[in-house]
Amino acid sequence: MAPDDRSRRRGRMGGAIRTFSAWCRGRAGIAVLAVSAPILAALGWIAATRSPGDGTPPTRIEAYAQGLRAEDTPGAEAVEAWLAAARRALESPVPVSLPFDGNGWMSESELAAVGYRFGLREGQVVEVSVSVPSAARYFVELFRVPPDTAAEPLFVAEADSVDAALEHESRRDGAYVLRIVPEPFRGGRYSVEIARRAALPFPVAQRGPSSIISRYGAPRDGGRRSHEGVDIIAPRGTPVLAVTKALVHRVGRSENGGNYVWLQDWSRRKNLYYAHLERSWVDVGMVVEPGDGIGTVGNTGNASGPHLHFGIYDLDRRPSDPVPYITPPGAVRVADAKVAEPEE
Ligand SMILES: [Zn+2]
Repeated sequence: MAPDDRSRRRGRMGGAIRTFSAWCRGRAGIAVLAVSAPILAALGWIAATRSPGDGTPPTRIEAYAQGLRAEDTPGAEAVEAWLAAARRALESPVPVSLPFDGNGWMSESELAAVGYRFGLREGQVVEVSVSVPSAARYFVELFRVPPDTAAEPLFVAEADSVDAALEHESRRDGAYVLRIVPEPFRGGRYSVEIARRAALPFPVAQRGPSSIISRYGAPRDGGRRSHEGVDIIAPRGTPVLAVTKALVHRVGRSENGGNYVWLQDWSRRKNLYYAHLERSWVDVGMVVEPGDGIGTVGNTGNASGPHLHFGIYDLDRRPSDPVPYITPPGAVRVADAKVAEPEE
């Protein structure tokens, strides 16, 4: 952050604190009973999600709340009322389908916040952009909703109106909540865009989603096992491509896979499997970059016609569906009932 930005931000925050202090003086004495339940709930929620003792740095909104508490305000409980409004936005988000493009207005005379709930699949990147024409500072936070709906949402990423954009790659299928919280009493008109895209490029040159001829999860061997990747049809000799920076981990030949290459993607802690190659162009120990050719499409091993089998595995060999990683959302319909789209 440039020094200018920092002083501007401090100036804004100081203004908000003065506004907030004035409000607190006006409300001192009447708010204590009314907000005590939300205070306890908000404090309990923060303790549950952030574990301050574990060395996790505070989120921006937590740091901001600490700054407000440090001010000598006569109604410190109002800070907790503001956090309670933020918590309600997290508990009762508006369900939206992506891409979502919306705008709204938050009252400057109230403690306001808004949440949007949507689904992401493992391998999809959510892109959020918030536009706030006024001078208000906004906090933008992304939470993951655990499958156990009784559990608290987990904080995963944040931005604020200084940077205004947030990106996050989902590591699992599930529901997320985006929360927007303005500084206390600094509402106004805002707009938000939430979109998602595939995290990785397509692994076959000159090909796209319509070349996927067999989905992850499709039955194999009469249902005794299921397909642990996708099959992508392409003419023999078409280059197959590294989809991310990775280490060439294994190169070899097997009865089922034919000529294969394994890449290790350490940024995601995933192994990427390319099989049925006509030939491979890489050696173990090489580092490849996205878009590098690593071999060509063939039908070696257990393959009738030329196609690439592409698989994505955890380091403990748990397979993931490659489709959300390599195709734009909605480009490939769910054909195999085994894999369900998350709720939206
Ligand atoms: Zn296959």
